[in-house]
Amino acid sequence: MPLPVYTVTALRLGTITVDKSGMTYGVDPGVSMDVPVWGAAVEGDGVRMLVDTGFGEPTDWDRYVPHRREADETLPAALAGIGWRLSDIDVVINSHLHYDHAENNLLLPDAQFYVSAVEWEYAQDPIATQRWLYDFPWTDDAVTFQNYVLVANDHHQVRPGIRLIQTPGHSRGHQSVLVNTAQGVLCIAGDAACVMENFTIPTPPGGLTSAEQALDSLERMRELSDVVLMNHDPGLSKFQSEAFPVMPKVSGEAGAGARSKRATGTLLR
Ligand SMILES: [Zn+2]
Repeated sequence: MPLPVYTVTALRLGTITVDKSGMTYGVDPGVSMDVPVWGAAVEGDGVRMLVDTGFGEPTDWDRYVPHRREADETLPAALAGIGWRLSDIDVVINSHLHYDHAENNLLLPDAQFYVSAVEWEYAQDPIATQRWLYDFPWTDDAVTFQNYVLVANDHHQVRPGIRLIQTPGHSRGHQSVLVNTAQGVLCIAGDAACVMENFTIPTPPGGLTSAEQALDSLERMRELSDVVLMNHDPGLSKFQSEAFPVMPKVSGEAGAGARSKRATGTLLR
């Protein structure tokens, strides 16, 4: 039976001003950069899913780095842009539990959440450099532990044509999502890759629990997908739902600007 084909739409959920070396480890320190925060709405086979939910109040986080959010970039407003309400979302996948990917989980008490078991445990006691990123609640009276599915195995199938792969390094339990789309296998990277230079140089994002694991995760994503949606990619546009960037199949000089000639993301088939 052919796998369902899903539509993926980029939802803009705000902007963070960061040092560029936070996106590309060791590259361009001192260069300031505005990065979007993207959620990904995934629809197909009768389900509506969201990958990452964005940050809460921008002013709560301004003491670390500047945050802003336009009126149409709150989670309810961004969803309304594609005709969805909060209550329409059946499944949420959190790439990891950093605030800019999971703080709005509490707006979605009707959803079932998929978080890696390693991330769930790590988030209780993160390394010192990442404590602030987890300084918010992801459960309350309405969104309880019962809402969460803790994923222990690699290549966990959420639905036919949607798999979670373990991509640690940015956080200990980071996961990325492989989605069967009209463009082939789309990797929703989370922060395992933030910008295309992560793949082309290659260098991981700057925030790390392990540089070695983060580099391995870039190669996993490269191998398993045809196109990529990175959750801080400055190159995407609001509500983009096609023509996602092609995954560079090699890194270094040859990788810059290289185009994929064949579909290699075959594991979903
Ligand atoms: Zn992030």
